[in-house]
Formats: sequence, C-alpha cells, structure tokens
Amino acid sequence: MKAKISERQLNKYSKNMDNTISAKDRIIAWPRMGRIDIPLKALMLSLGAKIVIPPANSNEALELGVKNSIEGICLPYKLNLANYIMALEQGANTLMMFQAPGSCRLGNYTKMAQKTLKKMGYEFDMVIFDMYQSKMKQTLQAFWHVTRCINPFKYYKGFSLGFNKFFAIDEAQKLLFYTRPREIHKGDAEKCYNKWLNIIDNTNSISGAKALVKRIRKDFANIQINKNKYVPVVYLLGEFFVLLDPYVNQDIEKTLGESGIEVQRQIWFSEWLEGVLKPSFLNKKESHRQKCVRNARKYMKRAIGGESIETIGDAVYAAKNGVDGVIHILPFSCMPEIVSQNILNKVSKEEDIPILTLVLDEQTGKTGYITRIEAFVELVKRKKIMRNSEMKKKKEDLVNV
Ligand code: SF4
Repeated sequence: MKAKISERQLNKYSKNMDNTISAKDRIIAWPRMGRIDIPLKALMLSLGAKIVIPPANSNEALELGVKNSIEGICLPYKLNLANYIMALEQGANTLMMFQAPGSCRLGNYTKMAQKTLKKMGYEFDMVIFDMYQSKMKQTLQAFWHVTRCINPFKYYKGFSLGFNKFFAIDEAQKLLFYTRPREIHKGDAEKCYNKWLNIIDNTNSISGAKALVKRIRKDFANIQINKNKYVPVVYLLGEFFVLLDPYVNQDIEKTLGESGIEVQRQIWFSEWLEGVLKPSFLNKKESHRQKCVRNARKYMKRAIGGESIETIGDAVYAAKNGVDGVIHILPFSCMPEIVSQNILNKVSKEEDIPILTLVLDEQTGKTGYITRIEAFVELVKRKKIMRNSEMKKKKEDLVNV
C-alpha cells in the first residue's frame, strides 16, 4: 500500500519536527470549521490523544482574530488564529494546521500564525498536515508525530470512525437542505439534523459509524413534507471556509431554506477529503474538480487558486442543468474568488442564470445581507414562474398544431 510507512521513516520524519513536547504531555487542538470537530475528535481520541476543542466561531472569536491579525488578511486566517489563541488558553500545546492543494495565501498562514502566537508569548508545537505533498503517507506521519500511536488497529478504528462521521454529517446536511423548504411542520428538519449530529458525535463503534448514513436517510424520510410544493433550486458556491462554516456565512442555508429555496452545495468536506487522500489510481469516476475544469473551460483555462475554478465550473453546470440561481460567497480580499466574481458576470449573461455575489467580512451587517438574499430569492422565484409558464405555453402550442 502506498501509505505504508516504516518506523525508520517515521523517526526520520520526526527529526525535522519539534520534539520538545513528549507524546504523553501533548494536548492537541485544531481550527474550527463547521462540524469537522466531530470526526476529528473521534480520530484523535482513537489514537489515544488528549485534545482541546476551542469554542465554535463567534463574534468573540472574530474580535480576537481581528485584533491580532494584520489588516487586509482574509477572514479564514483571522478566525483560525482566534481558534488557536482560545485553544492555547484552554491548555493546548500542539496545534494542527491543514494545508491543501491550491495556490492562495493559505500556504503562508502557518508561518504567519506561528510567528504571531510566539510573539504573544505562547509555547506550542505547530504540526502541519501538508496535503500538497505526499497525501496519505504524510498525513499518517503527522498523526504519528503528535500521538506516537503505533497500533495499526487504532489507526484503522480512528480513520473508519472519522471518515464515516464526515460522510454522515454531510449526508444529514444534504437531507436538511432538501427537506427544510418542503417540511409541513416548521423546524422538523432542523430538529432531526441536530439530533443526528449528537448521535454521530456519540457513536464509538466502527459498525455503528458505518450504519449512520442509512439510518439518517431513513429518519429524514419520516419527516412530513409537501412533495408537490414548487421549490426553486439554488447552488451555493464560493470559498471553502465560508461555505462550510455557518457562523461565517451567517447560516445562509437556513435563510434560503426557510424562504422556500432548496440549497445545493457542491463542496463537501467528506468528498474533498476523499479526493486529497485517496490514491489517484483508486479514483475511477471523474472528480468534482475535473468536472469543474471541464465545465469552466470557456471562461477559465486553468485553476488559479482557492475554489475559483469550482465556482466557475459549477455555475456553468448549474445554468446548463436547469438550476434556478447561483449564490456566490467569498471572504473580503480573497483574490481567487474576486477573479471568479468578475468572470461570473459574464457567465450570468451568456448562460442566462441569475447570480448573486456576497462578500463577507467582520463588517458585514446581518440586515443588509438578509435583504440582498431576500431580493434574490424573489427574482429566482419570479424567473421560475415565467420559465414554467413559457414551457406550458410551448406544450399547449404543440398540442394545438
Ligand atoms: S481561498 Fe481566499 S479566503 Fe480562502 S484562504 Fe485563500 S485567500 Fe483566504
């Protein structure tokens, strides 16, 4: 197997890392983003690690991040930094940082955060999970470095629990997006979703974790919905972090769902993780990125960092496949998505699809944000009604010929 590593390799890897903290004294933390804390907690605890989970992103975290960051840096950095500070205050001494394929400022954030935190007087070891390089092998080495776990079964259990929980959370969220605009009793879908987050979090056996997706589907199917309700579909696209964190995107999926819109997101943590960790020869079907590169070709020749090519590719795909509208969200000063924003104007005109771009930062006010979403929802609904009546008329004309 490609990911198999010998003890000699592990020791060699560890020589280049900070070894001042012994494995038994390590208290590990990682940044918050949506609910990735649930699967990561299961993985780290299976490997015998001691962990600290900083509080979910909030106004307090944002304030702390803004205060200690340079101006103009993007929102994900500010919140990551705040998560680290909060975790260090809670006793963490080992910080995990994930880096992934793509070319944006994220690659420099580790060094920048490290410098800032050291300047603030914190003592810690930052371990980088650099998925640019050797993917699974490097990831295993980094886990070994922080936990010193050598028991293969614990790795098997940890990764099984982690992966299955990632997939279960994403499945529950997809069902929430479908069910919320159609539910008969307001709040049923959300209640079901929150219930499952708890169950996922408390599942500790491999067989239990493997059964989660099936059980979630069954439970959501019991919610009473109006199947004949006219529900427009809107794709939610943009930068990874703002898409996945409900604090940062101000729970846009809930606002849309409660306005009678079915949200379809194309970026999911479980799929992304599978894409970066799975050896390429095991990937039989076209990946999301490959599909986006194909669909974006007319407007963007190559990926320019972040999720820019996914944004363009998914918007074109949406237009060609009857999706009613696209909402593009990005953090203020995110270069890759600013480029996408400009190209999306052309996509909207040429492919005839309504597109709304929302830029988010610490200054974004709730009222203005909601007003823009509501206006867009009205536009999408009107367009759908017009399209439906045009289609009906065409059918009638054909019958009358
Ligand atoms: S994609 Fe944009 S917002 Fe995200 S880390 Fe890179 S520059 Fe920042």
